[in-house]
Amino acid sequence: MDFDRYLSQVAVPEVFPSGQKAIKSSSVVVVGVGGTGSTMAEMMVRMGVGRITIVDDDIVESSNLNRQAMYRESDIGLKKVDVAKSELLKINSDVEVEALDERLTIYNAEDIISYGKLTLDGTDNYSARGAINESSFRLKKPWVFTAVEGTFGYAKAIIPGKTSCLSCFGYPQKGEGVSCTIQGVIPSAVRAVSSLAITLAMKILLGKEESGDLIYLDVWKPMLETLPIPRNDDCTVCGRKGAD
Ligand SMILES: [Zn+2]
Repeated sequence: MDFDRYLSQVAVPEVFPSGQKAIKSSSVVVVGVGGTGSTMAEMMVRMGVGRITIVDDDIVESSNLNRQAMYRESDIGLKKVDVAKSELLKINSDVEVEALDERLTIYNAEDIISYGKLTLDGTDNYSARGAINESSFRLKKPWVFTAVEGTFGYAKAIIPGKTSCLSCFGYPQKGEGVSCTIQGVIPSAVRAVSSLAITLAMKILLGKEESGDLIYLDVWKPMLETLPIPRNDDCTVCGRKGAD
C-alpha cells in the first residue's frame, strides 16, 4: 500500500497506520450517487477503501450540478454510475469500483447490500431506506443513514444487534419523499451531512465504539445536536420481542 498517499489521515491518532489497513481491506456499497452519495463515494475512494460498489439508475441532469460535485455540464444525459465510476477511478486507481445501473428496491436490496461490509445511504426516499434497513438487519451488516432537506439534515449509524435501527423511532418505512428540486436543499448542507456520515462510516470500519445517536445538523443556524435513539423492543424490524 502507498502509505505516503494516506499520510495525513494516518497521522490522526484515531486512525493510525493500523486503521488504514482496515480501510484498505474494507468494501462499501453506496446506494444512490446524487448529492450525498457521490460526495460520500468520493471521500471513501480518496481515503483508500478497498472496494466500492455504487448503485443508481439515474442520469445526470442540469439541476443536479449545483450540488453533485461528481458531475459536469458535459455529463448531462449520461448515466450517473458510469460517470461516477470513471471519475472515482481517476481519483484513486488502487480502488476497485463496481457500478450497478439499478434502483434499490425490496426485491434486490439483499443482493446489493451483500456486496459490501457497510452500506452508505445516498437515497432520497423512504422506501429505499426501509429496504436497506430491513435487509441490513437480516444480513447483520451495518449501514449509515443520511437525509438532507433545506438547510438541515440527519446522519445515524445503524449497527444490527448494537444500536437502534431506522424503524425504532418510527421513521416511515415506505414512501417516495419529495425531490430535492421541489423541497429545496442547499449544497453546503449536503456536504456537511455527507461528512458526518463518512465519519460514522470510518468509526464502524475501524471498529470504534459508536452509539448510534441520531445526529441533527443545520448549517444555516448553525446547530449540531445528537439525539440518543434507544433500541425499541417493539420495533417491527429489530425488536427483541420477536426474532432477534
Ligand atoms: Zn429497530
